Amino acid sequence: MKQFVVIGLGRFGTAVAKTLFDMGYDVMGIDISEERIHQAMGCTTHVVQLDAIDEGALQSVGIRNFDVAVVAIGQDIQASILTTMILKEMGIEYVVAKAQNDLHAKVLYKTGADRVVFPERDMGVRVANNLTSTNILDYIELAPDYSIVEITAPEFMHNKSLKELDLRAKFGINVVAVKSGKNIIVSPTADDVIKPGDIVVAIGSNEKLNKIKER
Ligand code: ADP
Repeated sequence: MKQFVVIGLGRFGTAVAKTLFDMGYDVMGIDISEERIHQAMGCTTHVVQLDAIDEGALQSVGIRNFDVAVVAIGQDIQASILTTMILKEMGIEYVVAKAQNDLHAKVLYKTGADRVVFPERDMGVRVANNLTSTNILDYIELAPDYSIVEITAPEFMHNKSLKELDLRAKFGINVVAVKSGKNIIVSPTADDVIKPGDIVVAIGSNEKLNKIKER
């Protein structure tokens, strides 16, 4: 099973750590602040108080053994960059770092981060998409032009099979799952029929996805 370390136990870091911990994963939480360490007890497997830019301190807690590190240091951009660099130099396979702005993100990638996230910006985009479209339930950006959306099946899809709808050819989108009441069909087949009230999870370019959500 994968081992996770979350560095920086603010709101974002704690949410990541707690979610992984609740899913049953081993999660080590690290923070420089004693108060944050106390608050995070119970949402991680164990917590350690240390300064993440202290390479020796990271080594002493066996950081090398972790598969995934999440750098959730907020305001201190310098600490976030240095920590990311140290983790990559130590050989951590996958490092996800939280960025404050585009320049910070660019530096994080150059430093070796495997993935950079912007929690506030990404959530803002998701909320805006939810607010402006009546049938969009959720939205995840995969790349600047590509997303996954969860939409309430528009009327034109009702009681039609995926074959009849031919969304890939007509709209250039792929349906990856259909939620029908409590059931979820992952990788639906051509014969699966969309019923009124179903939720369709589709992947495609934003331009193409916009076409179906407008229908
Ligand atoms: P959020 O917006 O997610 O709440 P914060 O900026 O409040 O983010 O949280 C960042 C956390 O990172 C804080 O708990 C802070 O103590 C911690 N942190 C900052 N610098 C370091 C560091 N060098 N080493 C370890 N933890 C750090």
